[in-house]
Amino acid sequence: TPATIGFIGLGNMGTPMASRLIAAGHTVIGFDLAESARARLTEAGGRAVGSPTEAIAGVDVLILMLPNSAIVEDVILAPEALKALSSTTVIVDMSSSEPLRTRALAEKLVETQGAVLLDGPVSGGVTGAVNGTLTIMVGGGINPVESVTPILSILGKVVHAGDTGAGHALKALNNLLSATHLLVTSEAILAGERFGLDPKVMLGAINNSSGRSGSTENKWPNFILPETYNSGFGLRLMLKDMKIATDLCAQLGMPSLLGQHAVELWDRAAAALPATADHTEIARWLKENGE
Ligand code: NAD
Repeated sequence: TPATIGFIGLGNMGTPMASRLIAAGHTVIGFDLAESARARLTEAGGRAVGSPTEAIAGVDVLILMLPNSAIVEDVILAPEALKALSSTTVIVDMSSSEPLRTRALAEKLVETQGAVLLDGPVSGGVTGAVNGTLTIMVGGGINPVESVTPILSILGKVVHAGDTGAGHALKALNNLLSATHLLVTSEAILAGERFGLDPKVMLGAINNSSGRSGSTENKWPNFILPETYNSGFGLRLMLKDMKIATDLCAQLGMPSLLGQHAVELWDRAAAALPATADHTEIARWLKENGE
């Protein structure tokens, strides 16, 4: 049965995700601060509204695809938003947010509003959002998770990671791996190039060898070698995720020696590159400044 879905955050990921939900027959009521994003939703057949409150009131499921925890809290804890939120609405924070903040937010929402918030961050990038092949790492209780699974399955493969916050923890740790892989892959390919190896030959061999990863299978061949740097995932968003992971390590009382070092390098790249830089530009930065 068609559902009414509120969708807040219609950026690089939110727009194609909302479009898939509309194409599957659901009603999507969407809000984004950017007018251009709202126009894209209308074009896709959704109903764009002028305030978050209108996307919250009376919906079956409320999806948030915003930059980070602070913005998620600002949007959902605004007095007008809380007033509009129904206790029967299931909220899914699909942004890559901070696991412990998500737990605290979910507790607050259930206590004050009786509303359930699940975490459901995704991996797979803009391509995965367009094709409905995301990996969706869901945290929360089994009943609400099962209730939203038919809708989330339109967007990708649902993995129930555990209780509230588990999805956000898993996503941050995945991106710490992904970012670290991208750095070390870039170091290796740049060294090979200096030796006289052809990067294409290197990638072909590595993708049949033990050094392969998303960086050798996807990021280097599709965005770095062709020098397009247009993956649609910002460098600062990746850095945010790495810091969520290393902060989590600190909160758990465990060291993250390699992670900390990777964060330092990404911090330097973020300081040197424009705010809109794609995360794959870390390879270019390394080539130019990484000695
Ligand atoms: P984006 O910057 O393209 O989109 C974010 C959108 O949120 C923008 O359109 C912005 O206008 C809107 N926004 C910001 N503050 C708002 C507010 N207060 N109210 C309403 N709208 C607001 O980011 P994105 O790439 O779509 O990423 C969204 C989330 O998904 C992030 O947490 C990111 O880390 C994560 N993520 C991104 C990718 C990717 O490949 N781009 C992949 C997986 C996860």
